[in-house]
Amino acid sequence: MSKKLDGKVAIVTGASKGIGAAIAKALATEGASVVVNFASSREGADRVVSEITENKGRAVAIQADVSDQGQIQRLLTESIAEFGKLDILVNNAGIYLPSALGDITADHFHRQFNLNVLGLILVTQESLKHFPSEGGVIINTSSVVSTLSPPGTAVYNATKSAVDNLTRTFAKELAGRDIRVNSVNPGLIATEGTHAVGFVQDGVEIPAHMGRVGQPEQIATGVVFLASPDSEWMTGQTLYLTGAAF
Ligand code: NAP
Repeated sequence: MSKKLDGKVAIVTGASKGIGAAIAKALATEGASVVVNFASSREGADRVVSEITENKGRAVAIQADVSDQGQIQRLLTESIAEFGKLDILVNNAGIYLPSALGDITADHFHRQFNLNVLGLILVTQESLKHFPSEGGVIINTSSVVSTLSPPGTAVYNATKSAVDNLTRTFAKELAGRDIRVNSVNPGLIATEGTHAVGFVQDGVEIPAHMGRVGQPEQIATGVVFLASPDSEWMTGQTLYLTGAAF
């Protein structure tokens, strides 16, 4: 039986855990060959690759810090060497560091903007050298905070507002190449990252989100939709996946 993404090749940045890992597995389940990018968690990335290959999918783990231009170039070179082409780019790697206005430092600013915004731009730029003439798909992992603007994460919120704007702008710039650019904007999702910063704690329910915290797989479903021909007439859009009206 044919699958939605048979024959496609995808790169998912930050796919060793959390939302990125779920996205990598969901794309592979639909037939895509997947590059599972990670920065330092080789064990997590290898686990994602094993789950995919045990399920008869194709995947490879490639280490690269996607806030570093040289490492981004190597990521693309190694990806093309492995799978021969690129059809789907998921710019998912991102960090969130809480800080009230009075405590914001230049380092706090640059760590988040260098990865969430500059890294996304540089990976996209490098990927354009490899998308085929028939086009491709770019999906950015933004966040509900881009418009919800919760207090205490001002810099992170600003990075995601920037991601939404880049999504719309790049969609216009790349329309002529048949490259669609969209974002998923999750609400709070239970991941290793949100547990580590204390946004999600075991046993704590978030009533605004249908009485529960979201799961990475609920975001991955949206990414598969945006990667597939099901969304062929959709570009420059932000797909809010929040389990709540706001
Ligand atoms: P997570 O659990 O902290 O996982 C982050 C992933 O990004 C890991 O695979 C990590 O790899 C990778 N990563 C970090 N720095 C990197 C770098 N410099 N280069 C390459 N990879 C890097 O995060 P998450 O909660 O799944 O969030 C993923 C994305 O969703 C982020 O863009 C985040 O802003 C967005 N988001 C999350 C939520 C939420 O509630 N979880 C809500 C809205 C949006 P290593 O482990 O190897 O470092």
